[in-house]
Amino acid sequence: RQEQYQLLRDKPAVTRDGQRIRLLMNAGLLVDLPHLEESGAEGIGLFRTELQFMIAERMPKLGEQRAFYGTVMEAAGELPITFRTLDIGGDKVLPYLRTAQEENPAMGWRAIRLGLDRPGLLRMQLRALLQAAAGRQLRIMLPMITDLWEVRETRELIDREIGHLKRHGHEIPSELLIGAMIEVPSMLWQLDGLSKLVDFVSVGSNDLHQFMTASDRGNIMVAGRFDPLSRPFLRALRQIVEAAKKADLPVTLCGEMAGNPLMAMALIGLGYRSLSMSAAAVGPVKAMAMALDAGKVSETIRSLLDDQGNEDGVRTALADFAVAE
Ligand code: PEP
Ligand code: MG
Repeated sequence: RQEQYQLLRDKPAVTRDGQRIRLLMNAGLLVDLPHLEESGAEGIGLFRTELQFMIAERMPKLGEQRAFYGTVMEAAGELPITFRTLDIGGDKVLPYLRTAQEENPAMGWRAIRLGLDRPGLLRMQLRALLQAAAGRQLRIMLPMITDLWEVRETRELIDREIGHLKRHGHEIPSELLIGAMIEVPSMLWQLDGLSKLVDFVSVGSNDLHQFMTASDRGNIMVAGRFDPLSRPFLRALRQIVEAAKKADLPVTLCGEMAGNPLMAMALIGLGYRSLSMSAAAVGPVKAMAMALDAGKVSETIRSLLDDQGNEDGVRTALADFAVAE
C-alpha cells in the first residue's frame, strides 16, 4: 500500500471525470516538514503556529519566531503555506501566559479573541511572519472568527505592522493574503460580508462540528456521538462551499475529516476541491480521488440531502456507493 501511494506521489489528484483536487497537509512543528516532500502534498493548508509556543518554556521572542517561520518557508520552497495565527487559550494553555480558569474553555477566551485583547502578542507574531516572508508570498489565517469586526480589527493590526516595517526600511512580503477559519457556526450567515474582507477561507470542521452539535470534541463521552456524515452537518458544509464559490472566494477544508477517505469523498461530492489533512492521509485520499467519479458522488449526495423521504443513513449510503464504484 505504502508503495502504491509512493507511485502516486508526483501525480496530480484528478478524478475519473477530470476534476482537479488540491491536496495539502497540516503541520505545526519542524518534524512535520520532511513529510511535505514525502507525501506529495501541494503545500501546507494549515500551519498551527501555537505548537511552537506550547512546547516552549517561555514566550518565544520575536527573533525566535521569525527564524522558525523562515525555516518553515525555506523547507516549503515554492509551495504555499497558510500560517494560522495563535490558537491558544481554552484547553491549549501556555504555562507562561496567565489566563483565568474557565467553565467552557472551548467557547472561552481563545484564539483571535485573546489575540485582539492582548495585541502585543498578536502583533509580535504578525511582525515575525511579515519579516520572515520578506520578498515572498505570505498567507495568514485567523482562527475562531465569530464576527466580521474581528477580521477588520486584525487587518488594522496587520496594516500597522506593514507600515512599521516600511518606515524602518524592511522589505515586506511580495504578496499578502489574509484568510479566516470557518469554525464557529455564526459564520455561516456572514459569508457574503466575509468574502469582502478576506482572500480565502478554510473550514475548521473539527470545531465547527463540535459547536454545531454542542458536543465537546475532547470529551470521550460525547466526541464520537454525532457523525459528521449526517444531514445537518453536510448541509452546513455545502452551504459554505456554495457561498464561497458564488463569491469567488477560495475555500479549503482543513479539519480531520479531510483525511478520512470516505469523508473526503463526501466533501468532493459537496463541491470541495481543496483539502488539507495530516501528511499520512495524502496518499490514501489521493488514491480515493483518482478512483472517483465526482459527478456521480455529487448526485448521490444531492439525493441524500435533498430528496424528501430519503431517510437512508448517509454514512451507510455513501459507504455502499464507495464499494460499488
Ligand atoms: C478545526 O477546528 O477543524 C481545525 C482545523 O483547527 P484545530 O483542530 O487546530 O482546532
Ligand atoms: Mg479549530
